[in-house]
Amino acid sequence: MSAKNVLLLFVSVWCLLSCEVVPKKELEMKKKIVIAHRGASGYLPEHTLAAKAMAHAMNVDFIEQDVVLSKDGVPVVIHDIYLDDVTDIAMKFPDRKRKDDRYYVIDFTFDELKTLRVTERFKPQTGEQVYKNRFPKWKSNFKIHSLQEEIELIQGLNLSTGKTVGIYPEIKAPEFHQKEGKKIAEIVLKVLSDYGYQNKKDNCILQCFDAKELERIRKELKSELFLVQLIEFPEEVKQLAYFATYADGIGSWYKQILEKKVNGKWQFTALVANAHQLGLKVHPYTFRADALNDFSSFQEMMQALLIEANVDGAFTDFPDLVVQFLKDKNY
Ligand code: CA
Repeated sequence: MSAKNVLLLFVSVWCLLSCEVVPKKELEMKKKIVIAHRGASGYLPEHTLAAKAMAHAMNVDFIEQDVVLSKDGVPVVIHDIYLDDVTDIAMKFPDRKRKDDRYYVIDFTFDELKTLRVTERFKPQTGEQVYKNRFPKWKSNFKIHSLQEEIELIQGLNLSTGKTVGIYPEIKAPEFHQKEGKKIAEIVLKVLSDYGYQNKKDNCILQCFDAKELERIRKELKSELFLVQLIEFPEEVKQLAYFATYADGIGSWYKQILEKKVNGKWQFTALVANAHQLGLKVHPYTFRADALNDFSSFQEMMQALLIEANVDGAFTDFPDLVVQFLKDKNY
């Protein structure tokens, strides 16, 4: 054997011994993940393709999609079943509101929805922009898009940049869709499957506030995706053991993790420890640098929840700040 071959053999054996083989999913889920909440929504109107592309460029782990169905059953990416707080629907179709004065996504075909202009979130009664210092209302040109179009954007960007950014879709208001005669979970699962998201290795986390529906997605619809049960109310915090029978994680309101501040130091509820005990990941919402509430700075919020309370990820409108914070902390 020549000296060169001996060297090659040595290098190969060294590589084999030193490169620990870790399954793909374990490797990913070990670190704390950054989820772009409605995209980079602190900087561009929520759920626009521009906000999603910006989030992708910020090196997030996942980009969130809230999904609602159109009249013709197209899964559309928008936060609510309503249209009047992020679009010009009231100007374009003034006679198509319901008795409650709201305009519903489900009352319009996808082609009709495509004609709308999307803008920064505002209060429909007053027209007042919700987050004053964000992207200015009615500037530039943004449109509504389907779940498929967004997945194609993210998968296309993954290809062109070499990144592996995942998707984090939420099934919105399944009971409302059921009453309207539509099966939103079945439609969303089909799209996810068509685009290669079928099990826990596929870089997709599916979330829902409706526990019965998420349980049905696991048990009846036999989904093998990573499932996150969103929780909103105090009584839901007590149902962790039930959630663990079908879900892989919980998405809680961050206030459910905070107990109180004593001598400048945060104390926490048992939520994260209890969830971890049951093998559930914890991804609290929403980290907003321009709506701090309990915290004196965004840095304090990230330090308290991500490090001290030891959550496993964050839904954030400001993904660049959380990505940088975790990088500085060596996560
Ligand atoms: Ca959501």
